[in-house]
Amino acid sequence: MRPGLPHTELSGFEPELTGEERTLQQAVHAFAADVLRPAGRTLDGMTAQEVVGQGSPFWDVHAIAAKSGLGAEAEDDSLPPERLARMTAIAVEELGWGDAGLAVSLGVGGFPSLLARRTGNAELIDLCEGRLGCWIGSQPDRGSDGLSLYPNERHPHATHGNKGNLTARVRGGDVVIDGQSSAWVSNGPVAEVGLASVCADYGEGFYDEEGHPHGIEVIVPLDLPGVSRGKPLEKLGKRALPQGEIFFDSVKIPLRYALSARDGYWRGHAATWSSAGAAMGQVMAGLARAAFEMALGYVHERRQGGALLAEHQLVQYRLGRLGSQVETIRAVSRRATEYTALTPARHPYYTAQSKAMCTDLAFQVADEALQLMGANGLTREYPAEKLFRDARAARIEDGENHLLTMKFGHLASLLHQDGRFRG
Ligand SMILES: Cc1cc2nc3c(=O)[nH]c(=O)nc-3n(C[C@H](O)[C@H](O)[C@H](O)COP(=O)(O)OP(=O)(O)OC[C@H]3O[C@@H](n4cnc5c(N)ncnc54)[C@H](O)[C@@H]3O)c2cc1C
Repeated sequence: MRPGLPHTELSGFEPELTGEERTLQQAVHAFAADVLRPAGRTLDGMTAQEVVGQGSPFWDVHAIAAKSGLGAEAEDDSLPPERLARMTAIAVEELGWGDAGLAVSLGVGGFPSLLARRTGNAELIDLCEGRLGCWIGSQPDRGSDGLSLYPNERHPHATHGNKGNLTARVRGGDVVIDGQSSAWVSNGPVAEVGLASVCADYGEGFYDEEGHPHGIEVIVPLDLPGVSRGKPLEKLGKRALPQGEIFFDSVKIPLRYALSARDGYWRGHAATWSSAGAAMGQVMAGLARAAFEMALGYVHERRQGGALLAEHQLVQYRLGRLGSQVETIRAVSRRATEYTALTPARHPYYTAQSKAMCTDLAFQVADEALQLMGANGLTREYPAEKLFRDARAARIEDGENHLLTMKFGHLASLLHQDGRFRG
């Protein structure tokens, strides 16, 4: 007797999902299919200004997500961490399957609120609850330079760290922020509250004795006097995700809005960044699965060489590679999610390698899926070219991939010097 077909779930070769997991997956999948996909395609064809304009589907997406209890604010902290990690990975993959740009908009939209809730501080929770969020880290002159956690990672030409164009002065109980973010802040043109992660002067200058900048992570309501915005950015991929500069002209907030400050800053920033890196892999598992499914559908319709494309062995090999890459992305991102949730000491250079690997592989999947569709893959009639552009953007988002991989190498050296990984 021939073996039967293996067990699979919506998300591939999963052991059978629990009832709770399947209910969540189906609810998020329905939202992704009925709301995110169509909205993402429409928004992709609009100008950046139209995306954030009145009546744009962008607003419907956020309204429906809020009403259905989806998005980053939905994190159920009553679940044990291992359950929460798995449920989050399952849900975020579905959002990425629907639309990677909107998945990021929803995720980062709830990020300040999520982190405020993790502090348990009622004032911060209140400040962020129900308000669209963003994460303000990169600046015009401080892109990759903002990702160095250790003084000895400094480039040899630099005499000290790069404090960038957006900084905070902390005096008494106040934080005053001046300067501007980069044009790449996700949700930047429309966010109501931001988590700013910037270099800070606590009264003795911006640098410590090793030349490493001090910093602060602080929640900033973005309706305060002194806050203004740049134009929404036109770009290649993730066009459904509005991005743009935020300017700060002596914006004053109380120090009690800080999530991490002084000696606790780098550790706090590292923990925040780890959460983002793990989420990027989950979104890419969804994007890559969407590209794989699309290619599978196409090769079962298109005939060349007297047969369906799917009947040619070379095409079966190419499908095999794609499926295997999708499985790899899911495995890598789930491991990073689990590690980040359960380890006693997480690290963003570990999640950064997962982000780099998952986004590079997702880009390869989107590219090959497009290739399997021949010239049709290039047209706007099929979603292949959009998936390709969205995956391309992700290789720079949340840190450029070569830089991130280098940081994982640096971490390996630090572990080796600490006596680990020596066989
Ligand atoms: C889709 C998307 C979403 C984003 N969302 C946000 C957001 O929500 N909030 C936010 O703050 N930012 C956001 N960003 C910005 C993102 O974090 C930065 O673009 C990223 O960190 C890279 O910085 P950069 O673009 O300034 O490139 P650079 O740092 O200027 O790098 C340019 C090139 O130089 C290389 N390079 C840089 N430094 C070195 C070095 N020391 N040695 C060798 N090579 C080097 C890099 O590898 C890269 O290839 C987003 C970006 C994208 C594309």
